[in-house]
Amino acid sequence: MAAYEIIDHQYDAVVVGAGGAGLRATFGMVAAGLKTACVTKVFPTRSHTVAAQGGIGAALGNMAEDNWKWHMYDTVKGSDWLGDQDAIEYMCREAIPAVYELEHFGVPFSRTPEGKIYQRPFGGHMRNFGEAPVQRACAAADRTGHAILHTLYQQSLKHKAQFFVEFFALDLIMDPQSGECRGVIALEMATGKIHRFQAHQTVLATGGYGRAFFSCTSAHTCTGDGNGMAARAGLPLQDHEFVQFHPTGIYGSGCLITEGARGEGGYLTNSKGERFMERYAPTAKDLASRDVVSRAMTMEIREGRGVGKENDHIHLHMEHLGADVLWARLPGITETAKIFAGVDATKEPIPVLPTVHYNMGGIPTNYMGEVLRPTKDNPDAVCGGLMAVGECASTSVHGANRLGTNSLLDLVVFGRAAALRAAELIKPGTQHKPLPSDNADLALSRLDRVRNANGSRAVADIRLDMQKTMQRDAAVYRTSKSLEEGVEALKGVAANMPDMRIADRSLVFNTDLMEALELENLMACASATIISAEARKESRGAHAHEDFPNRDDQEWMKHTLAWVDDKYNVTLDYRPVHTWTLTDEVEYIEPKARVY
Ligand SMILES: Cc1cc2nc3c(=O)[nH]c(=O)nc-3n(C[C@H](O)[C@H](O)[C@H](O)COP(=O)(O)OP(=O)(O)OC[C@H]3O[C@@H](n4cnc5c(N)ncnc54)[C@H](O)[C@@H]3O)c2cc1C
Repeated sequence: MAAYEIIDHQYDAVVVGAGGAGLRATFGMVAAGLKTACVTKVFPTRSHTVAAQGGIGAALGNMAEDNWKWHMYDTVKGSDWLGDQDAIEYMCREAIPAVYELEHFGVPFSRTPEGKIYQRPFGGHMRNFGEAPVQRACAAADRTGHAILHTLYQQSLKHKAQFFVEFFALDLIMDPQSGECRGVIALEMATGKIHRFQAHQTVLATGGYGRAFFSCTSAHTCTGDGNGMAARAGLPLQDHEFVQFHPTGIYGSGCLITEGARGEGGYLTNSKGERFMERYAPTAKDLASRDVVSRAMTMEIREGRGVGKENDHIHLHMEHLGADVLWARLPGITETAKIFAGVDATKEPIPVLPTVHYNMGGIPTNYMGEVLRPTKDNPDAVCGGLMAVGECASTSVHGANRLGTNSLLDLVVFGRAAALRAAELIKPGTQHKPLPSDNADLALSRLDRVRNANGSRAVADIRLDMQKTMQRDAAVYRTSKSLEEGVEALKGVAANMPDMRIADRSLVFNTDLMEALELENLMACASATIISAEARKESRGAHAHEDFPNRDDQEWMKHTLAWVDDKYNVTLDYRPVHTWTLTDEVEYIEPKARVY
């Protein structure tokens, strides 16, 4: 192995990722007096959070009566009873102060005529325990993520957080003796220098892995790097089989049209011009939760009622709302429709199709952001020194299906919770324990191997094979046959990884190298996803299994744990769902059939 020069840093805490979750954790830790570094592969305001459109959920009750307990009920129901109710209680209660905190930080929310934060309806958010849609999504037009991410970045600058921008985290430093995390090794992309960050707490906030699929709404940077690092550190990935398809990706490009479009009164039709959602979800209609709407659209297309020349997509209507409302409330997507679908949304429907949007699964944590390393005796045992927040984590507030607006919420609530917990655990300036002698070996041997990869298959080719396999076999509807074939097909694709080739051997802004490293992370995520899905013989939330169409609480109300080894072999186990609440203010919500 080539000799790599290592530059050393010592911090109380290091955060990997500068999206909404990473930034909220970073400046929370700085504010608590912890010396904190934030390492990010893209400039903070280019993180995928910037693309979030529709809103952030909180029962402020600005438009009509609302209650955080209704929000909790909706989230448990949305999760199809796979969410941990202690964490859900925490999130829905904290939502209200979290949104006011964002307002005070400077987020330019849209306003009601009397000057309160404007709230719109969103799928699955209902009044009075499922009675009828409620307006709970706090929005800054259709650029809510943009407004929040920029504000959080400004707060980070105000707190003088230290950023390492365009630093690519390679692997965690784990102590083999204690099993604890001691920091992270990163590659400075501009120079190829290696940096070793020693920290009492390392926080993974690396976002989702939408790019494991062919058509997704997420950025090219969403490659599951944190999940890959956790897997290589011997930690399990939780509930990866649950992948959310957003009903309204633009047909062809996959660009997102926010659910806020339906929140503002948009609706879907098939080739007969029918508002078919009335048949599938008589109460919530177009505002049923995402898995329900995506399945209904897929059924309509399968039964020959899709629109277009090939009857292979659905129409989203907004033209009846009028140009004024569209340009005021949904300016971003009106523009997106023009650019990516070539339609004038003020006059004609937008062609849409369910598209991969969000990963409910991830690195298992408790509601304080601490990563779990479950054992036989203790399914909630904590892995010392390591936290995870945001889309890379499975806390698990979203369970088998996330409600719209609950992710932006998850970022700020659990980013803050991680900072509070770190402040409890770390005394600022505590001396660091000595590092294990092989602390950089995992990261550097991987870097060296990938940099010199000299096989016959280009990274982009293997990636495409993986993406097509996932799109085809781990889709909106799954069958025993599609999943078994998918597992075999993906194993075949993964078998090509040692035969990977990269063309650029330099260390200076080597994007070829970065994409190869990302592909290893994606492959770990994809393997955990399809193998966990094949094993789950029921339908729950986003996992719609045609051979097992019902939810089976007796057998399957449990979280999947998937350990992925360096050859992408997966070992599965399970841990119980938390069936308790955090306080006595709410009672455990008993499972029942999920109808909208
Ligand atoms: C188009 C779109 C619209 C959405 N709209 C909404 C909405 O309206 N409401 C809602 O609640 N949710 C929405 N979501 C979901 C939500 O936006 C995301 O789940 C959330 O923003 C993820 O935030 P994050 O902080 O976890 O990660 P991200 O914002 O994805 O940030 C990840 C960070 O990790 C860093 N990183 C990753 N890998 C490495 C590495 N190896 N080394 C160093 N740094 C690394 C990146 O640089 C980046 O800073 C939307 C998602 C999409 C894709």
